[in-house]
Amino acid sequence: MIDRLRERGIVSEAVLAALRTVPRHDFVEEALKGRAYEDTALPIGFRQTISQPYLVALMTEQLMAKKSKLRSVLEIGTGSGYQTAVLSCVTTKVFTVERIAALSNRAENLLSAMGITNVRFRVADGYQGWKTQRPFDGIIMTAAALAVPPDLLLQLADGGVLVAPEGDERQQTLATWTRQGGHFQRHDLVNVTFVPMLTGVEH
Ligand code: SAH
Repeated sequence: MIDRLRERGIVSEAVLAALRTVPRHDFVEEALKGRAYEDTALPIGFRQTISQPYLVALMTEQLMAKKSKLRSVLEIGTGSGYQTAVLSCVTTKVFTVERIAALSNRAENLLSAMGITNVRFRVADGYQGWKTQRPFDGIIMTAAALAVPPDLLLQLADGGVLVAPEGDERQQTLATWTRQGGHFQRHDLVNVTFVPMLTGVEH
């Protein structure tokens, strides 16, 4: 898997080391374990998916493009917790929000069993971000909104990067937004297909 990520253009050794460290097979159900190191998204229940390794690597690399060590990162869409675990390797602290309580709880138990202690979990609607913990050096959205919520952009620290898929169910673009004071510089990366960002919480 790591060789394939290099071939596709991932160059950050810190990101490659994180993807080598986190056992992706622990984040998928028994029947899919044989496919855990294929470069594809896989179902995790509740009509959600674990993200494709290439996109996990690319998004993490983009978050770190401006700062080599991130102090705090906000993730919207915990899902299986795989991207969360990768982030925990390259940041001091990760704050992760998920709207489906069962997924959040499962990810929290899994990461704690792995000995990962620098992550805080929250069940909430990620459109609001996590105001009491702002500002964040990086913000990552793992579900696609039609447009990045302005509330999230405002929770970025100066010089911070937000990476997110934007668009509807048919067409999405992965983009980064870099904050410079009151300005936000947008940069489009690749076309992607993520699950849609929904509102409200499910208990
Ligand atoms: N990074 C995850 C991806 C999970 S898919 C992984 O690799 O496993 C995206 C997740 O975003 C889903 O779990 C979905 O429930 C969640 N999500 C969708 N809309 C959300 C919202 N408004 N707030 C928080 N989480 C949301």
